Amino acid sequence: MDSYRHKGLRNQLIDELMWKGIKDLPVLEAIRRVPRHLFLEKAFEEWAYKDNAFPIDCEQTISQPYTVAMQTSLLDLTAKQKVLEIGLGSGYQACVLVEMGVKVYSIERHKHLHDKTAHRLNKIGYTGVRTFYGDGFVGLPRFAPFDRILVTAAAPDLPVPLLDQLAINGKIVIPIGAGNDQIMHRITKQEDGKLKKETFGHYRFVPMLQGMV
Ligand code: SAH
Repeated sequence: MDSYRHKGLRNQLIDELMWKGIKDLPVLEAIRRVPRHLFLEKAFEEWAYKDNAFPIDCEQTISQPYTVAMQTSLLDLTAKQKVLEIGLGSGYQACVLVEMGVKVYSIERHKHLHDKTAHRLNKIGYTGVRTFYGDGFVGLPRFAPFDRILVTAAAPDLPVPLLDQLAINGKIVIPIGAGNDQIMHRITKQEDGKLKKETFGHYRFVPMLQGMV
């Protein structure tokens, strides 16, 4: 399933990410451990270790490795934390989070994508990801509070239910903006309840959409 050739390609990808400015070593090591080629259809395997987003089912995309590295790094993770991901997609980002030693809950609004990815994660042994078919605008109140929330689709704004499900001192990393341009935000819920807002440049994500399909 994972060969020396794939490992070699992954090492090259890590070099490229470092060259592009990713400095967070635990994040780079987590990315080095996840066999990204197993998250694409077999015919597209050779694309897996290019630093590009790539189409998956239901007109969605697996995020670009650089974006995965940036978002994971911005989460500022500590082992054992509870992390909610909005937008399971291929499951790749969720597995990078597992490799960071955190507990992952991930929601997907496409039934087909959810079921296919849940099956894939099981098959390749990433049983640490708890997947949910649901609407990320609602979040997962049953499992709240979360230490971290990661949104991997373009949100029109910060969804209030997600903020409610965030622990004190918790952080949300979320690309906000319509169309083809989003600004990466990190929002921290401070002890006094006030929000600290930081921004980290421009990205392009598929849209976060209402409801389940
Ligand atoms: N993290 C994924 C990226 C997938 S792209 C990966 O590593 O592959 C974003 C995903 O968010 C898509 O699969 C899309 O269907 C999903 N999505 C969009 N709006 C959503 C919502 N409201 N709730 C849950 N998932 C949503």
